[in-house]
Amino acid sequence: MLVKEGISASPGIAIAKAMIYQKASIEVDNTDALDTNEELKKLQLALNISVQQIEQIRDKVSKEMGEDEALIFQAHGMILDDPEFLEAIEIEIKGHRAQAVNAVILVTKRYSEMFEQLEDQYFRARAADIVDVGNRLRNNLLGVEQVDCSNLDEDVIIIAEDLSPSDTAQMDKKRVRGFATDIGSRTSHSAIMARSLEIPAVLGLKDISSVIKTGDIIILDGISGCVIINPDYQQLEKAKEKQQAHRKRLEKRLQLKDLQAITFDGHIVELVGNIGEPSDIAGVIKNGGTGIGLYRTEFLYMNSDTFPDEEKQLKAYKSAIEAFPQGSVIIRTMDIGGDKKLPYLPLEEELNPFLGLRALRLCFNEIELFKTQLRAILRASIYGNACIMFPMISSVEEVRKAKAILEECKEDLFKAGLAFNEEVKVGVMIEIPSAAMTADIIAREVDFFSIGTNDLCQYTLAVDRMNENVSYLYNHFHPAILKLIKQVIDASSQSPNTFTGMCGEMAGDPLATVILLGLGLDEFSMSASTIPQIKEIIRKVRFEEVKEVAKKVLEMETSEEVTNFVLKFLENKGITF
Ligand code: PEP
Ligand code: MG
Repeated sequence: MLVKEGISASPGIAIAKAMIYQKASIEVDNTDALDTNEELKKLQLALNISVQQIEQIRDKVSKEMGEDEALIFQAHGMILDDPEFLEAIEIEIKGHRAQAVNAVILVTKRYSEMFEQLEDQYFRARAADIVDVGNRLRNNLLGVEQVDCSNLDEDVIIIAEDLSPSDTAQMDKKRVRGFATDIGSRTSHSAIMARSLEIPAVLGLKDISSVIKTGDIIILDGISGCVIINPDYQQLEKAKEKQQAHRKRLEKRLQLKDLQAITFDGHIVELVGNIGEPSDIAGVIKNGGTGIGLYRTEFLYMNSDTFPDEEKQLKAYKSAIEAFPQGSVIIRTMDIGGDKKLPYLPLEEELNPFLGLRALRLCFNEIELFKTQLRAILRASIYGNACIMFPMISSVEEVRKAKAILEECKEDLFKAGLAFNEEVKVGVMIEIPSAAMTADIIAREVDFFSIGTNDLCQYTLAVDRMNENVSYLYNHFHPAILKLIKQVIDASSQSPNTFTGMCGEMAGDPLATVILLGLGLDEFSMSASTIPQIKEIIRKVRFEEVKEVAKKVLEMETSEEVTNFVLKFLENKGITF
């Protein structure tokens, strides 16, 4: 038995077998082949194994998910059958005396780069398939076992060094009971994903992926942030009790589902959900969210192997809008870049990707992609209350530029005779300090703000939101963050008709609720699973008293003072977690 402490990133208790999800670290020997015939034989064997594996996955996916989903594996099989691809590998072996594994790595790289350069989006997307197939062939040559988490036979807790958004997107959501990773923090995307899937997660465990073996029994405690490996009987019984108690607490809170988020003295706010894909909508409704405060549309792009066209996007946005006939749905234009990459959109390597070509900056470079998305949102706007939100705004000029492009899109649609809501609301994310400090100027251009504290903290405090080594510095109760939030809310309240929401993770932090409420935040947008707890707090306090709380914490010097003060306040109100 071993206990590891990490960062609690999504609440709940999971008890299941561990499954190590590893992007195998590959070591290759670059020396010449000793016997080229031997290498050709090895290649043939690895090819046979790869073809068999792909056929098995194809059959399984086709049976369980349908023919459409299985098509991708048919394409993978075709790559292994492609005479040009195979001949190129053989030439490297026979002509240049390369070992089979090196020949495969080299040719895969050459072919995938060639496809990445092509104009046609469909062919560009094939580059990712070539890499997938090439890696499979390489792993079979090296005898490296590969882990496929997209189709699991039993419940597992995924253990990994790190999980990228595309790793989590591919996982079998019915079988994955939790995540535990070496790196990451509360605001890394794996944490956000875990919360939206309502599964527990503990991140920042430093070396968990090297101390656990696949098959070990794990207790993952997302409430206290610890992981117990191969627990004894008593620990298992205790964990089961805690799991039960947590479930009961959740059930009790869910009874508030249809009640308003209203303080004891009648102040009403909106509690809405953050979603990444249409399948997240059900969770928001189940937990009593009245709309969507952040639709992270980049997942639509990341879950696809080519750019989703206007019709596909329209369908996705329409389904979200129609799910909330009374509430609004804030659709954020794609935030690609930073840690979110598209296999079919090659971008230059950047030294500081979070400060680089990300979100709106990338959209300004890829104007046709941007316009396709804006047209899709505009067309979806006739089905309800859609709002458009631009991310990563650093100055008012960017807002004006984005709005001008939106106007061009409206004109295109008008000319094409396609309907849209001319009054669609336009807002921006306030997640860069320069935008927060000029919120009074930006407020004149928009209908709403949504404060993105995940990035606002990262950029204000100079703390990488993904880096567990500095996560102790990442704190949304830092006086600088509280002052910026106040400045933004005050700026919007002075501008008629502009409202302020928050869609960063702070909005779902129960310790932050009374401060944000007291500062006058109009809308709290969060992972669906946290909505009931935040509503419970709001319904137990008075607006007049939390205004005082906000005033007091703004005078404090450290985040510790702030947290202690709020904890005391909540305790006096009988609010426990
Ligand atoms: C934020 O930065 O707070 C935010 C909500 O956006 P994301 O987490 O997608 O960067
Ligand atoms: Mg952000």
